[in-house]
Amino acid sequence: MVEVPESHPRKKSLLSRQKIVDATKNGLLADSAMIAHGRGEAFDYLLGEKTSNSARLAIKESASRLIESDNPVISVNGNTVVLAGKSLIRVAAVLNCPIEVNIYYRTEERMSKLNSFLEKQKEIVSQEKNPDNWIGDWNNAVQSVKILGKEGDGRIQGLEGPRSICSSQGIEKADVILVPLEDGDRCEALVNLGKQVLVVDLNPLSRTAKMATITVVDEISRAAELLLEYVINKEEKSAEWNNQGILNDALKIIAENSTD
Ligand code: ATP
Ligand code: MG
Repeated sequence: MVEVPESHPRKKSLLSRQKIVDATKNGLLADSAMIAHGRGEAFDYLLGEKTSNSARLAIKESASRLIESDNPVISVNGNTVVLAGKSLIRVAAVLNCPIEVNIYYRTEERMSKLNSFLEKQKEIVSQEKNPDNWIGDWNNAVQSVKILGKEGDGRIQGLEGPRSICSSQGIEKADVILVPLEDGDRCEALVNLGKQVLVVDLNPLSRTAKMATITVVDEISRAAELLLEYVINKEEKSAEWNNQGILNDALKIIAENSTD
């Protein structure tokens, strides 16, 4: 692990990068994870490495839809587990919903490593004190979060091969899916099945960002922390949702940042 001085202006970004490098070495991530992360970093740089007001709105809207859902699920890939695993376990504990590991290049080894990583994080999170404004038995809520994925007993209709494998109790059954860093064609298949697909993607031009029901154009670890606040505060759904407006807003921020 490299030392990043406290004073470095981009400390958080460098630490996240190191987490991805270490997790790749430990066999949790495919090599291409670094490329995906790099693309995210580039967009985050252009967006000023902070959560915009429109991203905040999209996180609130996502919170409200997850709260209203009958069968919500949080679907995580390797990068999401490494960067925001703990925060998303807290969100799942508040929502009382499962987390499903679902990765692009599915191998039994990586599925099993990511599963164990999340189970360990669950142990750590279960020992924490209650999150602010949340009342109840935290240890029990966290221990109840199911980590799905390994069983692979469900299918996403409309996709072929290993990409279609999912959990029957997770993605297959869900009406609302939070799926950070998803790829375009799976996002499209899930939308075509009538599910609400809430994505987190720093690239407002990606197919995923364009296909989703709600797109949070923000970095996953920042977005996950805010999402926790909003699911605890029980945010309400807006009457109409203009997702294209959210994407346009992100592009405007990038344009404005470059002319400053
Ligand atoms: P498309 O959606 O157009 O099919 P893709 O999904 O194939 O593109 P990838 O590079 O595989 O593109 O996906 C990575 C996506 O995740 C990129 O859009 C990138 O901006 C985004 N991303 C990477 N790291 C993060 C992060 N930490 N937080 C949020 N988004 C991220
Ligand atoms: Mg994508």
